Amino acid sequence: MRAMVLDAPGRPLRLERRDRPTTGPGQRLLRVRACGVCRTDLHLRDGELPFPGPRVLGHQIVATALDGDDGRRVGVPWLGWTCGTCSWCRSGRENLCPRARFTGRDLDGGFAEYAVADERFCFPLPDDLPDAQAAPLLCAGLIGFRALRMCGDPARLGLYGFGAAAHVLIQVARAQGREVFAFTREGDEGAQALARELGAAWAGSSEEPPPEPLDAAIIFAPVGALVPLALRAVAPGGVVVCGGIHMSDIPALAYADLWEERVLRSVANLTRDDAREFLALAPTVPVRTHVTTYPLARAETALDDLRAGRLVGAAVVVP
Ligand SMILES: [Zn+2]
Ligand SMILES: [Zn+2]
Repeated sequence: MRAMVLDAPGRPLRLERRDRPTTGPGQRLLRVRACGVCRTDLHLRDGELPFPGPRVLGHQIVATALDGDDGRRVGVPWLGWTCGTCSWCRSGRENLCPRARFTGRDLDGGFAEYAVADERFCFPLPDDLPDAQAAPLLCAGLIGFRALRMCGDPARLGLYGFGAAAHVLIQVARAQGREVFAFTREGDEGAQALARELGAAWAGSSEEPPPEPLDAAIIFAPVGALVPLALRAVAPGGVVVCGGIHMSDIPALAYADLWEERVLRSVANLTRDDAREFLALAPTVPVRTHVTTYPLARAETALDDLRAGRLVGAAVVVP
């Protein structure tokens, strides 16, 4: 089969021909139909996260399960294995399991023609979306959904960075009756136009204050300088959630920006319950994704486009 391999951080992905992977007990062989590209893939590629060694990236896998199940379509997310016995696993927080293995970092991922996954981390996908359009639900959608839950019940929600995650989450938030304010890089007309098309009450530059105070904000852009801006944009009691796995350093904060019970927190990974809940919710919204597809051999180009901010919506690799 063909696979796109990251040998070491800072190196471009390399097309490799290798044997199809073989399954162990409790694993499924998957024929990959599409795999979403996530900013986490870019952080791994660029050396901003620990990387254990040569690996096939990609953790938003839409695939046909070939073993044990006759050709059912499944999705495999970032969380690929957990220990099941630690205190986090036993308290409904397997997303924090210290022994967790992540798809496309600790386990070979979906930028390949075939992959293997633990059957407990393969999820049925909504039937209403084609393969490429379903792929962004598996991380962009799931992480956004978990981050929204951390916000409580905001009437006015700010989204900083309007890429793959925000363009899915705005649809969920609008369906729940929330007003959404979209913040993008200065002059990113494409992302602002998509935000308005998807129902944003306001779309503008991250440097601008929103027209009215927010109840909560989620920061998807990997930019620590957005943290004080978001804290100043939320009303007393407001919540700011950092939704990415990596962010540049947060500048010194004035305590006044946190005062009045504002909350600053991060959201990490996902649980299988998040996946089941979100994948059941998505078709009721119904979530529609805006995707740009790339052939498998051009996965590196997809990462380049994501890094340069040339994408509107989500990138998906199709083998
Ligand atoms: Zn991801
Ligand atoms: Zn555990």
